[in-house]
Amino acid sequence: MSYIKVVLKSGKDQSLRRFHPWVFSGAIKKIYGEPAEGDIVEVFDNKDEFLGLGHYQIGSIAIRIVSFEQIEITDDFWKQKIKQAYTLRKDLGLLDDPNTDAYRLVHAEGDNMPGLIIDMYGDTAVVQMHSVGMFLIRDKIDEVLKELFGDDLKSIYNKSESTIPFKAKVQPENGYTFGKSSTRIAVENGLKFRVDWEKGQKTGFFVDQRDNRALLEHYSKGKAVLNMFCYTGGFSFYAMRGGAKLVHSVDSSERAIDLTKENVELNFPGDDRHDAFALDAFKYLDDIKDKYDLIILDPPAFAKHNNVLNNALQGYKKLNAKAFEQIKPGGIVFTFSCSQVVSKDAFRKAVFSAAARSGRNVRILNQLTQPADHPVNIYHPEGEYLKGLVLYVE
Ligand code: SAH
Repeated sequence: MSYIKVVLKSGKDQSLRRFHPWVFSGAIKKIYGEPAEGDIVEVFDNKDEFLGLGHYQIGSIAIRIVSFEQIEITDDFWKQKIKQAYTLRKDLGLLDDPNTDAYRLVHAEGDNMPGLIIDMYGDTAVVQMHSVGMFLIRDKIDEVLKELFGDDLKSIYNKSESTIPFKAKVQPENGYTFGKSSTRIAVENGLKFRVDWEKGQKTGFFVDQRDNRALLEHYSKGKAVLNMFCYTGGFSFYAMRGGAKLVHSVDSSERAIDLTKENVELNFPGDDRHDAFALDAFKYLDDIKDKYDLIILDPPAFAKHNNVLNNALQGYKKLNAKAFEQIKPGGIVFTFSCSQVVSKDAFRKAVFSAAARSGRNVRILNQLTQPADHPVNIYHPEGEYLKGLVLYVE
């Protein structure tokens, strides 16, 4: 099998030599042919030395490397990669944990499969492609999943409609590619969640906060808790189980608030410690006074691109300052950023500025990140997208 050859400009080979898996369009000197989007192409430096094989796509990231070895990309190649991801989750104890059946099976670059996300919810796999190359091999991926999980897999839902660039000629549609599961209750650390992969955000649930929610439980006893940007209410139930005296969940989406209420009923039927409000975070935080002694701030990615980075940092600063200014003395803030373009340092500086603005004494108790089923490829530091701090506000 021969692949179309792509030659990089002089000096643009350095990141690939350090195994970073992206080739930006500006780094390309010449393409020997006309690859279709999603084709595997072969990348060389301008002295004709082989660098890697990757999926070609029109866009700023033109090639996503899938192999740094000059091999043939066969069905078995993909099977081995998915199997490696599966084995890691098995080693992490996630495949047969009676208390948790929601986890990430494939985390794109973190599992050396750029462009592919697979989240498991019980007997359903939700597959999300971010590259045309991955979308084109969706049938193979489904086959491997069926082989690996056997009877434990009842359905596969493909949710790539809004994640594949709209100009690509593949027209993805969301829908089941295998079975149709009626079970939509997932379990995380023994708590139940209704997951709506069809209409919900991302693959239906934010599996990446599992460990951080578990930590929150230990901080919640006797506290008045505000779960800001609650989505399906994840942090709220952990706070309730941890013995919080009151939990308020806030999200601007009515649908999120409905799901949160439904999930509270699933876990703590009739418990009147919880209330939920569909309101804008910035408005809600304008006037909370010292009502709360534990506040969670888990906003959506404020920056999706580098050119809006500055605005995003201002957003984090403003949001955190509002919490610091009003939280009860001795209060705890769990604050997060899930923007890939906001580095750990930049986020910490934004939180630092917010603390300084409030004039309160603020100390860092824990530094948080994503769980082990969202591994970070050491050569692709951008993969460390979730950053969090637990802060003690005097
Ligand atoms: N903490 C959640 C995930 C948060 S996702 C969990 O553990 O699952 C971010 C959420 O912020 C989304 O549900 C979105 O609807 C909400 N959101 C976005 N902008 C908002 C705003 N201005 N005010 C309140 N909520 C907002």
